[in-house]
Order: sequence, then C-alpha cells, then structure tokens
Amino acid sequence: MSSTVIYSHPVCLEHDTGEFHPECADRLRAIAHILDREEFMYVPREEAPAATVEQILRAHSRVHFDNVMGAIPDDGCVELDGDTFVSPKSGDAALRSAGAACAAVDEVATGRSRNAFVATRPPGHHAEREAVMGFCLFSNAAIAALHARHAHGFKSVAVIDFDVHHGNGTQQVLWDQPGTFYASSHQADAFPYTGLAEETGGPGGAVVVNVPLPAGTGSEPFRAAYVETILPRLRAFAPDFVILSAGFDAHAADPMAHFRLQVADFEWVTRELLAVARETAGRRVVSLLEGGYETRALAACVAAHIRVLMEG
Ligand SMILES: [Zn+2]
Repeated sequence: MSSTVIYSHPVCLEHDTGEFHPECADRLRAIAHILDREEFMYVPREEAPAATVEQILRAHSRVHFDNVMGAIPDDGCVELDGDTFVSPKSGDAALRSAGAACAAVDEVATGRSRNAFVATRPPGHHAEREAVMGFCLFSNAAIAALHARHAHGFKSVAVIDFDVHHGNGTQQVLWDQPGTFYASSHQADAFPYTGLAEETGGPGGAVVVNVPLPAGTGSEPFRAAYVETILPRLRAFAPDFVILSAGFDAHAADPMAHFRLQVADFEWVTRELLAVARETAGRRVVSLLEGGYETRALAACVAAHIRVLMEG
C-alpha cells in the first residue's frame, strides 16, 4: 500500500476562465512545479478518469448536468454567472475533477492507498444541486461523499472544509443526506454569505457544523475553532471515511479573503484531521483542492499538506 497518491489531469490546465481570472491554470502549474521536488518523487501520480453520469447525478439534477454540459462553447469563454466561466475544455475538466474525487475514494476505500490528494480544477464546493456558482460547476466533495456511501457502503462520511469561503454547495447537497457530516471554518460576512452557526443540517440528514470567523482571523482563533468545536463534533460523529475540502485561500497572502493563516496552520489542521481519521476511519482520507489564489502561497501550502498526508 502506498501512503499517498496524487490525482490530476492535463485537461484541467485547459479549463480557460478568461483573462485575469483568479481561478486560473497557473494555480495547478504552481502545484505541479513544487511537486516536482525530490521529496515527492516517489508519490504515485494517477490520471483522473471522467466521472460517470451516475456519480454526478447523486449530487445534481439531470437538468443541472445537461445545463452545464450544454453551456460549453466551441470556442471562446462564456460567462455562466458573475464569476463562473466555461470554455471548450471546461466540461471535460469538470468531469475529470469529479471523476478524480470518485477514483480517489475508490483507491482509498479498497486499501490500495491510505489517502489521496486531488489537484484538479474547476473546484467544487460552491456548486449547488441546481446551480453553478463561485468558479464551481459540480460539487466534487459532495459527489465524493455520496460515492463513498453508495458505491462502498461507508456509513458515516465526513467532509471538513477549511477553505476561507463557506462551502454552500457541499452543505446544500448533503443537507438531507443521512450518514454525512459537513463542517466548515470560513470568513463571516464574505462570499457566499452562508454558513451561519445556526445552519446545522436537515432532519435525518447531514450533521452540519459551521464556524464563521471574522476577517483578520489568524492562527490562534482558527486553531481554537477546530480544538473547541469542529474536532469534538467530528469525533462525536466518528467518521468511517474523511473527505477534505482543501482550500488554501485562508493564507495571509491570498487576495480573495482576509484571514491571516500561515503554512504551519494548514499543516496543523491537516495533522489534526488525520488524527481523527486514524481513530475511526482506518486512516482513509481523500483531500480535494478547492481555493487558493496566491500561487506561491498555494504551492507552499499544498506541499505542506501533502507532506502530512504522506505520514498517513
Ligand atoms: Zn475559497
């Protein structure tokens, strides 16, 4: 068994979001560049397969799927909402993002690897059941969670989202899904303006734990949110499979929000979440790239995150 496997696909570089868009291919190039270092040489790489329609439809309506795929232009770049754009390769990239998430679940569920990191784009956590939103086309983390439940029979699947933005899409898709858990730490009063502490999940559905934190949040209150709220609630849920919505835009250098985290904070939160996975989930963790828009900080955070994943 290898400890960590990394999924990506070259078409994810061709998801063109237009000039000056923060969610751009340079993000993945920066990650690929840092993963070329010798310390990551023996980490296996897998090419992401395309998701099946069945996998996507666990989280989205047929209408949404058809709308997204039908909106892909033959050339140029089309705006689907204020900040979500698609170009000729975007449909394939979105299917590979969701497909990588499911393939990573397969890999970890069957014990071939202990954990997996999925370095793809578009990201997923803002995509709702019926709507694209915030650079996201399909709800990759929710698709992965429902795949773990329905294709592999896991009973208690947790998604923990440390992206600086609330994962409204993941929360909405999982809201009425039994055996799921969604926790998020995020900047309050920022896009997408959801994720209030009062949002706690639908009856019989997901356990939802939201910890909104003020702009300017640094290491100490961020870690306290996990120590005092998210980690105890996650331990009480006792997940048998753990999925991470790994956004790195809470880094101090990130232009898209106003947290002040450093690389060491992402390393810390990864280690704490892996500790829970060791206790109840047989170390099974699938981590999906979400945000992170300052490419140097993003690459440094991803490297630190993967180093911890390699420890298992
Ligand atoms: Zn974000």
